[in-house]
Amino acid sequence: MQLYALALGSNRRHHRHGGPAGVLAAATEALAAHGVRVIARSRIRATPALGPAGRGFANAALLVETPLDPPALLAVLKRIERDFGRRPGRRWGPRVLDIDIALWSGGRWPQRGRAAPGRLSVPHAALAERSFVLDPLSDLFPQRFGGMHPRALRHRLSGLLN
Ligand code: ADP
Ligand code: MG
Repeated sequence: MQLYALALGSNRRHHRHGGPAGVLAAATEALAAHGVRVIARSRIRATPALGPAGRGFANAALLVETPLDPPALLAVLKRIERDFGRRPGRRWGPRVLDIDIALWSGGRWPQRGRAAPGRLSVPHAALAERSFVLDPLSDLFPQRFGGMHPRALRHRLSGLLN
């Protein structure tokens, strides 16, 4: 079994699931339906908009367990994003659902060398810069991470799942 920390974000309503917080709750259910077992979930945090997206985000982190390797898990995440109506487009634009692989118990992916641009890279390359990812992660591991500087936090998190 593989352990992962996933980072979820939404800043758009979904016609069935409601506002961003409802989207994240429904996405958590969808993961379970795809055989990704949710072990722990952070609270859902409201984050002010960054860039041209125009609307606030809801963000959350999950600790999950699955037999899937990182590329296979990414394929499941993309499938769920599509099922929620996400369309490829502006990177920082409005999005119904974004699910990123923040951390993996196997350490780094790819296992040798660096990821080519745009390809899967774990731990997520922007982890240390994204407080909307780090803050929910520290909800999951409060004794270890509460109040740490983002760079120190990232360092600890990369070691955590190994
Ligand atoms: P972002 O999540 O960085 O805001 P996107 O969701 O549009 O942007 O992701 C763009 C691409 O990033 C994805 O198609 C995926 O192949 C790649 N990617 C690289 N590393 C990761 C990761 N750790 N988790 C999820 N996607 C990743
Ligand atoms: Mg993404």
